[in-house]
Amino acid sequence: MQPTQTQGSVRVPDNRTILLIDDDRLQYRITQALMRGFRPAYELEWASSYEEGVELLLRRSYAACLLDFQLGRRDGLELIREVTEKGCHTPIIFLTSESSETVDIQAMEAGALDYLIKGEITSSMLERALRYALRLGVTLERLRLLATHDELSGLMNRRAFDSWLSEELERCGRFSHVLGLVLVDLDHFKSINDRFGHPAGDAVIRETGRRLRATIRNVDRAARYGGEEMAVVVTEGDGQGTTLLARRLVEVMAAEPVRLPDGSEIPVTLSAGAAWYPRDARDPAGLVAAADLALYAAKRSGRNRAMTFGEVPARPE
Ligand code: GH3
Ligand code: MG
Ligand code: MG
Repeated sequence: MQPTQTQGSVRVPDNRTILLIDDDRLQYRITQALMRGFRPAYELEWASSYEEGVELLLRRSYAACLLDFQLGRRDGLELIREVTEKGCHTPIIFLTSESSETVDIQAMEAGALDYLIKGEITSSMLERALRYALRLGVTLERLRLLATHDELSGLMNRRAFDSWLSEELERCGRFSHVLGLVLVDLDHFKSINDRFGHPAGDAVIRETGRRLRATIRNVDRAARYGGEEMAVVVTEGDGQGTTLLARRLVEVMAAEPVRLPDGSEIPVTLSAGAAWYPRDARDPAGLVAAADLALYAAKRSGRNRAMTFGEVPARPE
């Protein structure tokens, strides 16, 4: 599977390998010959069936894919939908045996960037199509990043996080996994803005995002949930792991002051609230509310600390 989390940077394809998915060996030979003179050179890999094509597209990273419209009894349109649904963003160019407006529209709607007519393809035409697909692929990756990430902290934005949390909870329900949620909120952040200025506050948010990313594991996800409130989801963990991470985030923030570009240093602390599925809640809104209650309790009991939902004292009737 290709990496879907590109926090803080755009993943530009660092390879020039093209995948051809076509059940006809002759088309592989022809494409090889057409690509022979390309400078800089591309590598060509070949998948001769629908299944092999899907497997390779999901497992490996390609600069672009040339996809046969008619794959034996299977359909290239079906393939493109299947891999897109599973998170593949490789730019795809269709190869068809005839030109038709129907094919053109279908290909475009399925998400292909372009289509070329077999038998009419010249070397310069293919070179140009690949060059455009690569460039467009990078632009689309950048747009995806902008749409799903917060620029200041480099973390996922709330919209992306909310939909990811729902999907992840559903998966945890199916496989009886535990899912932990930690909400953190900077302490007295308003006074940091007041005393040092808004740009300094921004620098604190940027540094908090960096420390969060450096502290969580690869399988976990961090998001900027609100102004100075951030969320971390602990996957493949348990309640104890979630509690430990919440405490760790508090420690990591308090351990060192945030250094500003002008060299001055601001001591910053944060408070954290932790809750986990299925013990504390069974749906996304309930889980967020439970972690939020724990966060509020951590604030009330002095800040610069972590609390779990289970530790929150019951409210007097
Ligand atoms: P508490 O310890 O109870 O959390 O107090 P607090 O001052 O951190 O909380 P409060 O909610 O009163 O203030 C949060 C402030 O965060 C208010 C808002 O102006 C500021 N803020 C929100 N987003 C940003 C941002 O992107 N940059 C900066 N510099 N400030 C922000
Ligand atoms: Mg705050
Ligand atoms: Mg707040």
